[in-house]
Amino acid sequence: MKVGNTEVHFIEVKSAISQSGLPDLDYALNPYLGCSHGCIYCYARLYTKDERASKNWGKVVLVKTNLVEVLKKEVKRKKKGIVGVGTITDAYQPLEAIYKLTRRSVKILLESGFYLSFQTKNPLILRDKEILLNYREKVDVGFTITSLKSSVSKFIEPNAPFPISRANAIRALSKEGIKTWIFYGPIIPRINDDRETADAIVTLAVETGSTLFYDSLHIKSFMLNDTYPLNEIIRTFDKARVKNFLNFLKKRCEEEGIICKGGFEEEKKSF
Ligand code: SF4
Repeated sequence: MKVGNTEVHFIEVKSAISQSGLPDLDYALNPYLGCSHGCIYCYARLYTKDERASKNWGKVVLVKTNLVEVLKKEVKRKKKGIVGVGTITDAYQPLEAIYKLTRRSVKILLESGFYLSFQTKNPLILRDKEILLNYREKVDVGFTITSLKSSVSKFIEPNAPFPISRANAIRALSKEGIKTWIFYGPIIPRINDDRETADAIVTLAVETGSTLFYDSLHIKSFMLNDTYPLNEIIRTFDKARVKNFLNFLKKRCEEEGIICKGGFEEEKKSF
């Protein structure tokens, strides 16, 4: 069936939270496979096992219909730990407004004593603010902001909410005392590696007391294609430029006294 421009399929799963290979996380919760935000750089397609979603990235999303029932059983036997919410999908993409799988799973996990680390691009997470507030010591919320310019976001994250709305969501959550962080990544030469962009993101981190994670673009096989929208940038990828920019960014963070951590492999997830 179609919901807006998204082709939706339904699947049943055997497991709700999976072991996470990402640093800092014990488990991953991904209520959907695929993501209608359709970011052109998204690496998650490489880790999405169903080809309907991975080969039609941004257009097809699979809904895990029995997720909540499976999770209810799983939380009783799994060791408590940190769950990354949305590691290969955005758990707050538009379909979540209809199916509420994330909301229901988050409640179960928090009530069962798990710690949740969210990463999203969608202010829909504010719908669940009351749940998060009840467990504010047990959650942190990260928003990916690659630029505060809508034109940049529209190009590289075509269906995601505009960055200004994400910035406002971070403000709203941090004002309520929820621990927030910003993921500035991927940093792509000539797209979002300018000083104005870095300054705007650093300023937002200062204002909201957010930790800043950053990551430069990792070139993946799906990008090595003549029709790939960043083809020219990939072909002429300038590592020295990236290095200089990251040094500039680290210096800006130091000047502003904010915690700034780099690298997907070392520190945090990057999608
Ligand atoms: S980067 Fe995140 S929001 Fe964008 S398509 Fe991938 S999972 Fe969705």
